[in-house]
Amino acid sequence: MEHREVIVIGAGAAGMMAAITAARGGAKVTLIEKMEKAGRKIRITGKGRCNITNTKSWQEFSTHLHPNSRFLKHAFYSFDNTETVKFFEEIGLKTVIERGDRVFPLSGIASDVVDSLVNEINKLNIKVLYNTNVKDIDLTEGNIRSITAVSNGKRISLMADAFIIASGGLSYPLTGSTGDGYKFAEKCGHKITECFPSLTALMPVGYSSELIGLQLKNCEITLIAGKDIVQKEMGDLDFTNNGIEGSIGYKISRKAVKTLISGGKCSVSIDLKPAIDIETLTKRIEKEITELRGPFTSLLLQKLLPSQAIRPFMEMNNLSSDINKLLRSLDISGLAEILKNWQMDIDSFTSYERAVITAGGVSLDEIISKNMKSRLVQNLWFAGEIIDLDGDTGGYNLQIAFSTGFLAGKSATAGK
Ligand SMILES: Cc1cc2nc3c(=O)[nH]c(=O)nc-3n(C[C@H](O)[C@H](O)[C@H](O)COP(=O)(O)OP(=O)(O)OC[C@H]3O[C@@H](n4cnc5c(N)ncnc54)[C@H](O)[C@@H]3O)c2cc1C
Repeated sequence: MEHREVIVIGAGAAGMMAAITAARGGAKVTLIEKMEKAGRKIRITGKGRCNITNTKSWQEFSTHLHPNSRFLKHAFYSFDNTETVKFFEEIGLKTVIERGDRVFPLSGIASDVVDSLVNEINKLNIKVLYNTNVKDIDLTEGNIRSITAVSNGKRISLMADAFIIASGGLSYPLTGSTGDGYKFAEKCGHKITECFPSLTALMPVGYSSELIGLQLKNCEITLIAGKDIVQKEMGDLDFTNNGIEGSIGYKISRKAVKTLISGGKCSVSIDLKPAIDIETLTKRIEKEITELRGPFTSLLLQKLLPSQAIRPFMEMNNLSSDINKLLRSLDISGLAEILKNWQMDIDSFTSYERAVITAGGVSLDEIISKNMKSRLVQNLWFAGEIIDLDGDTGGYNLQIAFSTGFLAGKSATAGK
């Protein structure tokens, strides 16, 4: 029997899944990776624990996808989050579901995910070319005829019946994701929707270094672009040396970065007491003031804020350290208002070197969502982060990689 030859560019989550699926379907597969190892990015996911997927139903899952969840629907139903868990359990990786329906390897070790994929790749006799950097593609009469790569210092040319580009985006370039695939896609005539870093830190104007290390649990953040409220999120916020991060910081970063790169202004408002309204908070502050044992604002704030937040909160809101002076310039409900509306203008963000994901990428208009095939080139497929599709934190991005990788691998093997 003639085996279809499939070349997969990139041994990340999407490329490895595509290669495994194609080999299981009977294709002769070559997987090309420019780094010395597969899955460098997977190894650092989920703070080293790898949040493989999220078990939410499609209805809920799809609300965490951008910019167009409908594009993933077919791929998701071909290989959904349940299939992902089953797949990993079958290749020997035990998993566990944690808070927020997030799935992790039971061992809590991200590299176990890579090892299980690489073992399966070896079992299926997939040829893997490490240290092999794809440099160019040769396009003849609407088909990719061959690709050129530099392999361990030598120039090589490789031919196949089908090519899957799974070379990732631009984020964390040290893992090998340096956006090479966009050039190949453009050469094939594909439009690249403007890329920008997402799930990344936002730096407020006048950010106090004393905030570094602070974690706020269950606060609410509102993103304001220009004068409009564009997003509200409730959850945990981390303050790091790069600014605001954490689950809700990341969630708002997509719209914030997009606003900033298009020249707009954006700010955030943090509600430090989202569970109570202004009136209740005002009454609570009044009561705390009657019990104060000194004339210092910090003594009052100790009752209301984590201690690490007190000085920066006072500094950034220009609050007098003398409570009597403070209450002459601001009534108690005014103080309650600031606690529920701590405003910070955002003037910059962390770029690709430490952004979790690249938003933008190969335009969805020119990829067939039913099989991940290019509408422009007969023997070309796409999978993973290179596509203009991204998700929130919580396992959504790896599921995008696995679903699109599976579908691309299956379809490239079938040739349709
Ligand atoms: C710090 C961090 C934590 C994350 N945590 C999570 C998480 O817990 N859960 C989750 O769902 N998502 C997480 N993500 C996102 C997730 O890791 C990515 O969305 C996913 O790995 C993308 O997979 P990919 O295969 O499309 O691309 P990549 O993983 O980027 O793989 C692309 C591969 O292609 C190779 N390559 C590139 N160009 C060439 C070339 N010219 N020739 C040969 N090879 C090439 C690269 O070396 C790389 O190995 C995290 C991301 C980061 C950065």
